[in-house]
Amino acid sequence: MDKFTENYVKSFMAGLVARNPGEVEFHQAVGEVVNNVASYVVANPHLMDQKILERMVEPERVIMFRVPWVDDAGNIQINKGYRVQMNSAIGPYKGGIRFHASVNLSILKFLAFEQTFKNSLTTLPMGGGKGGSDFSPRGKSDAEVMRFCQSFMTELCRHIGQDTDVPAGDIGVGGREVGYLFGQYKRLRNEFTGTLTGKGLSWGGSLLRPEATGFGACYFAQEMLATRGKSFEGQTVLISGAGNVAQYACKKATELGAKVVTLSDSDGFIYDPDGIDEEKWQYVMHLKNVLRGRIREYAEKYPTAQYFPGERPWKIPCDIAMPCATQNEIEEADAKNLVKGGCYCVTEGANMPTTPAAIEVFQHAGLLYSPGKASNAGGVATSGLEMSQNSMRQHWTKEDVDVQLHRIMSDIHAACAKYGTRPDGTIDYVKGANLAGFIKVADAMLAQGLV
Ligand code: NDP
Repeated sequence: MDKFTENYVKSFMAGLVARNPGEVEFHQAVGEVVNNVASYVVANPHLMDQKILERMVEPERVIMFRVPWVDDAGNIQINKGYRVQMNSAIGPYKGGIRFHASVNLSILKFLAFEQTFKNSLTTLPMGGGKGGSDFSPRGKSDAEVMRFCQSFMTELCRHIGQDTDVPAGDIGVGGREVGYLFGQYKRLRNEFTGTLTGKGLSWGGSLLRPEATGFGACYFAQEMLATRGKSFEGQTVLISGAGNVAQYACKKATELGAKVVTLSDSDGFIYDPDGIDEEKWQYVMHLKNVLRGRIREYAEKYPTAQYFPGERPWKIPCDIAMPCATQNEIEEADAKNLVKGGCYCVTEGANMPTTPAAIEVFQHAGLLYSPGKASNAGGVATSGLEMSQNSMRQHWTKEDVDVQLHRIMSDIHAACAKYGTRPDGTIDYVKGANLAGFIKVADAMLAQGLV
């Protein structure tokens, strides 16, 4: 980066931090993109004149609202609700809803910002958005979750719609929550449309949507591995998380011949040196999705496994790591452990799970490393396919959807290679994904004038 570009980045980031004080996750997500696209912006002065980057970091709209509900004991509870409508240059806002105690505006702005570039990479016409609440479904009854979802949607329903903003699930929002949210939306708006994705199969959902993020991450990893003549066959894989993305990453990696040896939740991780085979995977599905239990119980059921309370999986030797839990879950020391343990490929299933210092460790060590906005885009891509099926009043087969998911992940890999190939032939997936995603959105914004 030349001196002029370096100064441009510094002054841009100083302005961003001053205008958005305390929003550290948002600063981190923007910093990564700006570092990658600044040279392109400087080389194309009309982008600077038109202040495209300055516009991109300002959400088109942020909705914040009170979510009052009554718990099972009859007590009144109040949570915060949000929807960040970041960018609609290439399509209706699209992005998940997160229910987790840690949710705040900074986290949702980072997620909505990332989502804009991710959706652009999918090749489908979807803008970027994200929403959620500081409500945690953990430990709540089904009836409490339903009352909360109904109250949340009572406000949100005025701001979304199939051609305006199409939310989906994320952390803490799975099939159960999408069902309650959709039911209330339908009741209030008196319309049955594809306004939410991740719906149940009998009421507008797409086959393969639950699997899509985890499967897609594995398809992307396959493409990365192929650049080094490798595959999942015989590889040892670490996965973090035990939710939707982790579950299906585990299933697909195993199907492709790998041995997955870890899963985790926010209390700790399990290490099963024998690998999580089909029978053990079925147990995890039941434990997490039906019993809503903790991953610790896996080690109680399978004595070959060990439970490490309060720790993350990254100290276990492996070939491939797939962080599938949450943001900033791989820090610099974890990254060094992974490299020391023989890891040569890191494919992100979660959004921004790797800190900037940890990314530097991976890139310096020459690992294959893909950012979530590229490798976890299979989820939103399949949501896009769900929207198409809803609009066409059609229901595609699993095979049809899988073919499209495969193609989209392969196209995203090709886009990363197009914009991120280094002089030595290796691929900088971070740069490739950011530049490819940015250029499409920037061009659309330019074409639509100052709005
Ligand atoms: P789930 O709620 O199904 O699962 C999340 C998992 O991560 C749980 O095991 C949870 O443990 C763990 N986790 C959550 N917060 C933390 C934390 N602070 N520290 C450690 N572990 C934590 O969510 P998803 O699987 O849907 O999402 C996982 C990641 O993938 C997120 O980053 C999400 O944004 C991203 N993603 C999801 C997509 C999707 O289609 N679902 C699409 C693209 C990205 P616990 O039960 O203890 O909270």
